[in-house]
Amino acid sequence: MRTLVATVCALLAAHAASLTAQQPTERPAWCAKLPRPAYASLPRVSVPSDWFEVYRVDPDVYAIYEPRQWQEVISYLIVGRERALLFDTGMGMADIRAVVSALTDRPVVVLNSHSHYDHVGGNHAFTRVLSLDLPYTREHARGSPHTEVAGEVAPGALCGALPAGFDTATYRVRPWHITGIVHDGSRIDLGGRSLEVLHAPGHAPDAIALRDEAHGLLFTGDTFYEGPIYVFSPGADFGAYTRSVERLAALAPAPRKLLTAHNVAESDPHFLAVLRDAVRKVASGAARGTRDSTLVTYEFDGFSIQLPVQKAPTGPRNR
Ligand SMILES: [Zn+2]
Repeated sequence: MRTLVATVCALLAAHAASLTAQQPTERPAWCAKLPRPAYASLPRVSVPSDWFEVYRVDPDVYAIYEPRQWQEVISYLIVGRERALLFDTGMGMADIRAVVSALTDRPVVVLNSHSHYDHVGGNHAFTRVLSLDLPYTREHARGSPHTEVAGEVAPGALCGALPAGFDTATYRVRPWHITGIVHDGSRIDLGGRSLEVLHAPGHAPDAIALRDEAHGLLFTGDTFYEGPIYVFSPGADFGAYTRSVERLAALAPAPRKLLTAHNVAESDPHFLAVLRDAVRKVASGAARGTRDSTLVTYEFDGFSIQLPVQKAPTGPRNR
């Protein structure tokens, strides 16, 4: 999640409280990236929603994308013969369960890539939610009050209309219940499709990747996406992140597609090796970082890695 800018948005929201109930009058700068060209080549699936866009990214695999909110978060529905798994539930700003119901009639279980609020917003609407057994996740399952997430619905965070009936003044992430535990290496059988849980801490302590080896798919959550990758939120750990990235980059057979949790749904698998090399360069102090008061940003081709200033390796060439 984009915590720092969210904080800025929260401040903006406080300044412009009277504006938050209206649609934004000026398009924020980030809207210029929309629509992202990558989606033009994906088949779009019609769903009963004025908020989500759904794309078929592989047979029986759907990306459920929220393009008009600046997180541009992407949840995935993976459908097997007997069951379906929803990997993340988005911002909780519109009814993702209705979208899922339109895509499958199989029983649905939720599993989150991690428990940051932008990935668990719709969890409350489902009766089965799997999770790692971690205090961090249990804490996050208590939800996020309006004061923590108000910035996510401030004018600068939105690009176009909100869902019909949405109330920015009361938006919050509702609490949810963990109903089943998974571990690193757990396999989830959907009927004709088996998913493997890979604990991948770093971005967050409870971050996981989800592997569908037979179909060559790797759902990376926030461990990789094409954009600024945050390794600075509370609970983030760059040492753990490097180990997680090394592990994902060493998977054999290598995945055919990376399905990521922000911005662009489908990324080329070559990014795993590029990310591994990038992380090694950062860890060794060889990468050139750009420093502001709180963060060091390391730019690479197609993504960046952001660390807190006090935890960034002190390479002599860091600016
Ligand atoms: Zn996150």
